[in-house]
Amino acid sequence: MNYKKYTCNALKNRLFTWVDIDTLIQKTGITQWQQLGTSYLGKPIRMLTLGTGPVKIMVWSQMHGDEPTATAAIFDIINFFIAGADENQNLRNTILSNCSIYFIPLVNPDGAEAYTRSNAQKIDINRDYVAQQSPEGKLLKQVRNDLKPDFCFNMHNQSTLYCTKNKQAVAMAFLAPPYDATLQVNWVREQAIKVIVCMVQQLQKHIPQHIARFNDAFEPRAFGDNFQAAGSSTILVESGGWLNDDEKQTIRKYNFIALLKAFEVIATQSYQNKDVINYLMLPENQKNIFHILFKNVRVKSKKGDYRLDIGLNYTEKFNPKTRTLTKLWHVEEVGDLSTYTAYTLIEGSGFYVTKPIVLAHLTNLQVFNANHQVLYSWIKGISNHKNQ
Ligand SMILES: [Zn+2]
Repeated sequence: MNYKKYTCNALKNRLFTWVDIDTLIQKTGITQWQQLGTSYLGKPIRMLTLGTGPVKIMVWSQMHGDEPTATAAIFDIINFFIAGADENQNLRNTILSNCSIYFIPLVNPDGAEAYTRSNAQKIDINRDYVAQQSPEGKLLKQVRNDLKPDFCFNMHNQSTLYCTKNKQAVAMAFLAPPYDATLQVNWVREQAIKVIVCMVQQLQKHIPQHIARFNDAFEPRAFGDNFQAAGSSTILVESGGWLNDDEKQTIRKYNFIALLKAFEVIATQSYQNKDVINYLMLPENQKNIFHILFKNVRVKSKKGDYRLDIGLNYTEKFNPKTRTLTKLWHVEEVGDLSTYTAYTLIEGSGFYVTKPIVLAHLTNLQVFNANHQVLYSWIKGISNHKNQ
């Protein structure tokens, strides 16, 4: 499949807003968009219906405003469906004649504009299924109740700081959310699990070591858990981390691949012979990874030198005026970090630091080599390396 052919080039980083989305919708010229309602601050929330088949699939993204990867992927998928007849016409026809797909990209346009998880009321929409205090949460619940979809896809981004038990960064994680605290698997949840198995098997051709299962603790306030309980087989998809992919454009492609495969197996019902065990065998998300890890760095000290591993992570600060993100680094942990991995793992036995290391705060850190040259430095959390 030629993914590049369908990539929606108007969305090329994580900071697009509802204005970009609306411009895009107008440009594509497809008329099947409907406005479902508005966000707390009055921005439109829209849904696109494609296909005429009896199996109903509802896909929504970015209920957390700072989790945009799948929104971009949804527009890639829409491009796939509206492209003229080409070598993928059979697949397109199979999906659209067997399924009706309801896309709701950008459930939280206020959060996307402010690049926050919450909506403008500071409510986490994905904890508002029961309380129903956010217009976005009300709308999402109402749409599912009206459509009663057979399948739901709940598209999110997870922290980049998850790895598998084999110490590989998790690029994509999946979950068929439980419908109650017993975590049992009924028919509805089993259908979701079998579709996940198909998505994972497709992704394993590309990123076999980088797929995980999300924590399946029951969350009674969340949409996925409640939709599963209400009878729609629901799949949580989480975009994670990938080396040198801050804008998640590589992971966006994996969203496209996984979603398209899901639609295909639902359309052909070929998911039905899959085994739940393949889902249960997926490694779980683990928090044993740093963004940068120095191994065996010497700390020069008047009380005698000693050696440390130094694990650093960053958070991102959004500047609403310039609409840019800045990485702010801190030392997360030091000591024996041999049970951890990192996106950037640096053998530091020839290196030393002189200042005492402060945890948790914006770091001031200089790492010297044996010739007393500064190799890496951070001042108030800002790295002097361009790519960090
Ligand atoms: Zn989320």
